[in-house]
Amino acid sequence: MGEKTEGDGILKYRIGIPRAVMYYQFGTIWKSFFHTMDTEVIVSGETNKKILDEGATRVVDEACLPVKVYFGHAMQLAREEVDFLFIPRLVSIEKKAFICPKLMGLPDMLSAGKSSLPPLIKPTLNLVKSESRLEDFLQDIAKSLSFDKKKTRQAWHLAQGVYNKEMESKRRSFLENQIDCPGLTTIFLAAHPYLIHDRFLNLNIVDKLKKMGCRVILPEEIPPEVQNAELSCLRKPLFWSFGKMQLGSVRFIARQPGAKGIIILSSFGCGIDSFIDNMVVRYLKKMGVPYLNIILDEHSGAAGLDTRIEAFLDMLRWKESKDEDYVSTYGSYLGCDEGTARASGAGCSSTTLFQ
Ligand code: SF4
Repeated sequence: MGEKTEGDGILKYRIGIPRAVMYYQFGTIWKSFFHTMDTEVIVSGETNKKILDEGATRVVDEACLPVKVYFGHAMQLAREEVDFLFIPRLVSIEKKAFICPKLMGLPDMLSAGKSSLPPLIKPTLNLVKSESRLEDFLQDIAKSLSFDKKKTRQAWHLAQGVYNKEMESKRRSFLENQIDCPGLTTIFLAAHPYLIHDRFLNLNIVDKLKKMGCRVILPEEIPPEVQNAELSCLRKPLFWSFGKMQLGSVRFIARQPGAKGIIILSSFGCGIDSFIDNMVVRYLKKMGVPYLNIILDEHSGAAGLDTRIEAFLDMLRWKESKDEDYVSTYGSYLGCDEGTARASGAGCSSTTLFQ
């Protein structure tokens, strides 16, 4: 057990949270919750090469890039003398959909490793069948840290309120603004939250795009009800939360008149993206929307990424200035009418250069 401070009868611990994967989605809730419970939270630093290299040597070769990085962050926290590592087992965060199996297995993979780590707090969150499972998750935490159950519940709901407000404000600002900003090229970045917000992993793509004169829209800005409505026409419902977010937001953005291009960012070794990206690409081809597909791994370099982004933006701007759907290498018009395709959702039989 870790250090306990019994000043006013409250137990205080140092809890380590890896700054990786779901931290980028739920870090606000976790930090706020532990603070309310008078617990010190230590979040690992921003990802860097040392963290990535260390993680990559501790995990199986088949792991995707974000999981390798997660291991590196856990190793860094082990040196920070934390009492516990908070490694929740996130099975499902909504009804009828799951998180990725690799994320579900994180506590097991870390426990099975040879590295010496602080004890893990690994509550299971599984909301796939019923909202009441949140109670099991909270009880797991309360039991592991000897927290009062009622106070645990109150602190969680308080933290969830903070998170909801943060998300609402992001979405409101998106809905209040025009997609098309004069003088800027509107790019939608289709990726999982941890690829979008981890600047080392994504080679700082968001700042790069902004410096190159783009307005960048992210999936988290599109309200979940809008994403879900976009998916209601699928013959079979998607059962991966990340896939729903990705495909639902792309389908919405692709039909908006101001959207110029879409960048799909994936990790090498991602099982979910291996088929969701395919669905995204087929839809974009049908709609005649230009896209660029980038797959990141630990060997990705900034120079290669810059070149691809510059070429993509050049093509988008050239296309816009020529008012053409797309242009062949010999300069003649080959496509169908973009406006009609976007407005009606009708198929576009031509292929696009941007792939
Ligand atoms: S969703 Fe893909 S990138 Fe994310 S952890 Fe799972 S396999 Fe890795």
